[in-house]
Amino acid sequence: MASVIQSGNLLGLGRTELEDLAVSHGQPRYRGGQLYRGIYARRVLDLSAFTDLSREFRAVLCSRHQITYPEIAREFASRDGAVRYLFRLDDGNSLETVYMPEADRATLCLSSQVGCALDCRFCFTALVGARRNLTAGEILGQVLAVTAAQNLPRGGRLNLVFMGMGEPLLNLPKVLAAVKILADAKGMGVPLRRITISTVGIIPRIQDLASEPTRPKLAISLNASEEEQRSALMPINRKYPLTELLQACRAYPLRPWEHLTFEYVLLEGCNDSDADARRVADLLRGLRAKVNLIPYNSGPELPYRPPPLERVLAFQQILRDRRIPTFIRISRGQDIHAACGQLSLAGLRQDGLPTSPA
Ligand code: SAH
Repeated sequence: MASVIQSGNLLGLGRTELEDLAVSHGQPRYRGGQLYRGIYARRVLDLSAFTDLSREFRAVLCSRHQITYPEIAREFASRDGAVRYLFRLDDGNSLETVYMPEADRATLCLSSQVGCALDCRFCFTALVGARRNLTAGEILGQVLAVTAAQNLPRGGRLNLVFMGMGEPLLNLPKVLAAVKILADAKGMGVPLRRITISTVGIIPRIQDLASEPTRPKLAISLNASEEEQRSALMPINRKYPLTELLQACRAYPLRPWEHLTFEYVLLEGCNDSDADARRVADLLRGLRAKVNLIPYNSGPELPYRPPPLERVLAFQQILRDRRIPTFIRISRGQDIHAACGQLSLAGLRQDGLPTSPA
């Protein structure tokens, strides 16, 4: 039996860990399963409300443990319905999650790390630098706290995308521990095909992910059409170059229902030419893939700008003419600085909103 936690928050523990906890208190293993379902399926927060457990076990649990979600410190509602949640973590760090409702579904944009080490030139999280990995409980806590705040029914259509702060493949063990509970029908009950991990392209971790029994969908942040250009925008490209990344993508075992998503942030005058679009089409030839074009969300701290709409449409048309399904993703929550890639800077300021106008 792995070491069993003696006290503290139960959020983030998997089924086996909760079963081990039950056994360590002289209880049968299935009591751990009851705890698991209570925490993740019924979403009970009060340990004394676990009336299916014996009175004695409940008393021990209440004296040593809690179930606590990360604290929502502030929330910012956009005109378009998106809500940016700023969480305060136990160690004083903060993290952000964005809720984006649509007519028949909702999408949550989740963070995997506080800050990020990767230093992509156009990204606001990069300005924060690397702070730390999130725990499985902090990842699950984002989903539990926001679904509770929004009163979302379990079993409602929810998409989860790891496109908030951080690089999920640099925190893969914790991300996968959380995904296992998220995707479990007896846990949080979000189908795997509605969960997406987005990465800059950490090749060895993509290969690890390929052999995972419980793996979500994969999105790759392409953002450039040539090696030099990509290295200038995303320094990680020097370590894991575009050509090798695409080889890893070609070797990635897609399930029958699955395709790869390539994200491409459009930066005016930088990576948005017709020649770029043609090169992207060449790079992706033969892959079962779609492309999401994201016109850049600018802010005062960085010099990049989005191209005009005609340029975005022309770029899309070149890819579509080459039979690559290509979509334009207009970011939600721009008025509250919750749009793609904008998270974290605002959150780390005192009032939670940028001081200068965007
Ligand atoms: N580290 C992961 C996930 C976080 S970023 C990754 O890079 O994929 C999620 C997406 O937002 C990436 O495609 C990234 O290129 C994009 N992005 C970052 N900053 C942006 C900005 N200011 N405007 C638009 N998209 C941005």
